[in-house]
Amino acid sequence: MLKVKKKAKPEKILLGEEVYILWQDGKESRISFFDLRDSCPCASCIDELSGEKTLDSNSIPEDIKPLKSEYVGNYALRVYWSDGHDTGIFHYKMLRDFEKQQ
Ligand SMILES: [Zn+2]
Repeated sequence: MLKVKKKAKPEKILLGEEVYILWQDGKESRISFFDLRDSCPCASCIDELSGEKTLDSNSIPEDIKPLKSEYVGNYALRVYWSDGHDTGIFHYKMLRDFEKQQ
């Protein structure tokens, strides 16, 4: 099978009721705020050495939402959450693969 290189960059990202991403190849991703917060890859949510999740999902408010977000370089999105957590940097590749992981 021919390997097709994915355009791993979003055309646009909207934070409305959930995270909506339109990718440059036309694919759309929808991720709930809770699920995204729950899969935060930062060092205080994931043990860097073991790769184990240290974040307690029960500690995340059900009505969690992003207060603001910003692009990091051209490879990731940083989200400032309503629970005060702002060290999570979500790589586009991770966002792109998110639905498959569910
Ligand atoms: Zn985190």
